[in-house]
Amino acid sequence: MEYQIAADSLKDRVILVTGAGDGIGRQAAISYAAHGATVILLGRTVAKLEAVYDDIETLGYSQAAIIPLDLRGATKQHYIDMVETISDQFGRLDGVLHNAGLLGVLSPFDQLGEDTFDDVMHVNVKAQFLMTQAIMPLIKKSEDGRIIFTSSTVGHEGRAFWGAYSMSKFATEGMMEILANEMCNTTVRVNAINPGGTRTGMRAKAFPAEDSGLLKTPKDIMPLYLYLMGPESKDVNGQCIDAQPKS
Ligand code: NDP
Repeated sequence: MEYQIAADSLKDRVILVTGAGDGIGRQAAISYAAHGATVILLGRTVAKLEAVYDDIETLGYSQAAIIPLDLRGATKQHYIDMVETISDQFGRLDGVLHNAGLLGVLSPFDQLGEDTFDDVMHVNVKAQFLMTQAIMPLIKKSEDGRIIFTSSTVGHEGRAFWGAYSMSKFATEGMMEILANEMCNTTVRVNAINPGGTRTGMRAKAFPAEDSGLLKTPKDIMPLYLYLMGPESKDVNGQCIDAQPKS
């Protein structure tokens, strides 16, 4: 599918990107800024967020903001405070890209540790649930609100050894579909992206033996991220869309 994306499609929008310091999230934040958005960079490693902030400034895009937050330890109150800060500073929130994710440990099901299960489910599912609940009142005020979750091929096809990560992505797709259905009579659109194999640190950890030079880069898969965040996708809701053809 060819996506229609105007150069200024995100002008005047305020967009929150989680896991914005590295990999796909870093590129999405820069691409959203390049299309006119003011981006809020959320992540746990401040130095990485600052580097993205500096890149956005150097490129001459709208000044970004940084929210340092470790999703593993964050509570409901952290998200309520975060939304209050965004509301005070910007007065609006038009989009959220739930991108931050944890791979955990790939292992046989009967060896999957409880700690790994808890970490992965917390970062990949509970944090998104609590954050989404907190942002709903603000994002519903946008004339064109967008919530994008990040899934995976193993979020709809169970695969041996993918344990907690796969379970968390199934839950993510379920959360997306439930919320999309609830939002169908509003201006908020809720979808998910399956990035497909993409050249990042997480992919290298999951597939250490593959030639990463053969993979798409985060920049290659940005058309779908831009399309689903922009006004052109106003009729798309409740979908999990592949960012690249399946190999
Ligand atoms: P990376 O590991 O490169 O980046 C993940 C980002 O999430 C990092 O910025 C990381 O921060 C952040 N993050 C992880 N844990 C936390 C936490 N507890 N609190 C806050 N931030 C956190 O992964 P990708 O860019 O590859 O993945 C992005 C998304 O795409 C994920 O949801 C992943 O599951 C999904 N995906 C990726 C695929 C791929 O091939 N790359 C394929 C399918 C899905 P820090 O850098 O500080 O650790």
